[in-house]
Amino acid sequence: MYDSIKQKGKRKRLVEKLVSKGIKDKGVLEAIINIPRHFFMDKDFQDYAYDDKAFPITNNQTISQPYTVAFQTQSLNIIPNDKVLEIGTGSGYQTSILIYMKSKVYTVERIFDLHRKAKKTLSKLNMYPEEIKWSDGYLGLNENAPFDKILVTAGCPDIPSELLKQLSINGKMIIPVGLKEQEMFLVKKEGDNNYSKKNLGKFNFVPMLKNKI
Ligand code: SAH
Repeated sequence: MYDSIKQKGKRKRLVEKLVSKGIKDKGVLEAIINIPRHFFMDKDFQDYAYDDKAFPITNNQTISQPYTVAFQTQSLNIIPNDKVLEIGTGSGYQTSILIYMKSKVYTVERIFDLHRKAKKTLSKLNMYPEEIKWSDGYLGLNENAPFDKILVTAGCPDIPSELLKQLSINGKMIIPVGLKEQEMFLVKKEGDNNYSKKNLGKFNFVPMLKNKI
């Protein structure tokens, strides 16, 4: 047993909070109620794992706030078997939500330490992405493209053309754009060179940086 009744009670309250903030997607809520977020966090913060807050993980990065994870996932309308590219594996928590929702997940992280740790955490939960790779997300994952959905979990100065290219027609990408503060954009690929985008409001993310380390 890696989880307890007490933790599940806390997750239930977190889900109630997310519903009150406008999250409706049943698949997202079910994933959040079942996945032990504390598994993805450092010991020092595990008691707060079910607060609706971002927390530091190693290498100056953060595990996203549950509301942000739920909002980004809900915006993509994930359905089983969707091929999803995640940029910024980080702790692996967002990855686990997507796997729980039965999508085929391809996830990349630029920091080797985080990549290795996330892979280990996910395997402890018996969760295996189609691909989990140490690489620079600005390049996407051309060998596995096209993707039905792309979820970017770091703030990008603008929308990377390589990611647009790797989206399938009618595919959707959710991406926070901006340097100090980000605006969340939902991009839809209507044709080979034709995109629509919608601004879904302000959020805060760590920056998307070039090159793997
Ligand atoms: N999805 C993560 C969020 C982590 S924060 C979670 O649920 O925990 C964003 C992550 O994006 C960080 O781990 C950061 O190292 C990573 N990142 C930043 N720029 C990147 C890039 N160019 N390619 C891949 N990952 C990147």
